[in-house]
Amino acid sequence: MNIEDILKTVLHPGKGDRNLVELGMVGSVLEEPGKVEVVLLFPKTRDPLAEYLIGSVRAALYRALPAGTEIVVTSKVEAAPKSKKPNVNDLTLDELNNVRHIIGVASGKGGVGKSTVAVNLAVALSRLGYKVGLADADVYGPSVPIMTATEGSVPEAVEEDGKTVIMPIEKYGVKWMSIGYFAQAGQALIWRGPMACNALKQMILQVRWGVLDYLLIDMPPGTGDIHISLINDIPVEGAVIVTTPQAVALADVEKGVDMFRNEKVNKKLFGLVENMAWFTPEELPQNKYYIFGRDGGVKMAARFDIPLLGQIPIVQSIRECGDAGEPVALSSRPDALAFLDLARSLAAESEKE
Ligand code: ADP
Repeated sequence: MNIEDILKTVLHPGKGDRNLVELGMVGSVLEEPGKVEVVLLFPKTRDPLAEYLIGSVRAALYRALPAGTEIVVTSKVEAAPKSKKPNVNDLTLDELNNVRHIIGVASGKGGVGKSTVAVNLAVALSRLGYKVGLADADVYGPSVPIMTATEGSVPEAVEEDGKTVIMPIEKYGVKWMSIGYFAQAGQALIWRGPMACNALKQMILQVRWGVLDYLLIDMPPGTGDIHISLINDIPVEGAVIVTTPQAVALADVEKGVDMFRNEKVNKKLFGLVENMAWFTPEELPQNKYYIFGRDGGVKMAARFDIPLLGQIPIVQSIRECGDAGEPVALSSRPDALAFLDLARSLAAESEKE
């Protein structure tokens, strides 16, 4: 057993039983033939358990090292160096200083095409000449890596003044960041509650976004504590809500609207996006079949008194392009135009005072 492993067996009873190595309390270890010298660091205010800990370290070393080894354990009063692990409480908003608009893309429930809309909206805004980033905060199903064919990319992390900064992945003129880049391939993310929330904040606040006109945040589906905490801790200006036109979706949209209008949140709603508004077959691009009913989105927008920012048809190529990692909004196909129109409307709404 090496000395570090031995020291890891000594727990600090006053610090939730974390070990001395983890607590950064081991100042130095000197190993010579037949001799081991350990210096423990104690914070400025003398630790009442100092003597107990020095004794425990001595005992642990005696037990583990060959008989006859000279063991010297001393202490030094000094603040333990800060743990290298990024601490969410140390996160600042500095990396967002040069971002003009931070907009959440939300939906009352999953499967309505929120991520498809977020990714294509980002690409479309970039095609209009804006500088754009997208943070995929959908902890339960991060889809940006697949939809942009950047799976397996590992964002570079750089140490700067003792802080870690993460570089976004740049592709298609957009800066992407996804919680999916940090998961092992095929491994489901099992973050829940506060842990998910902290991981998300880190993924947005530690990223070197640089100068951006728009930072879109693909929010987790639904409405709940994670959402409220995320919206409150990140200076989100407002949100876009994605829905499908069916009457049954109305209740979900209502939940989404209520969340942003809730007095604890109170953020602007830039508008509603009606996805899957009608079906258009590839071979008959002029035909529109209202398979989920007509004008559902128009009625919902009127009911909640928010603008209808855009209507996106169901087109096979939208799904195919998503699966292939080449967002349809990059193309000159007619279905790309719906996303360009949506981007124009959002830009107009967000520039309103
Ligand atoms: P969410 O983020 O709301 O869970 P996704 O964006 O992942 O939804 O979309 C769910 C599925 O529906 C995906 O396979 C996607 O390609 C497909 N899809 C979304 N919008 C459209 C559309 N307008 N036309 C065709 N397929 C779509």
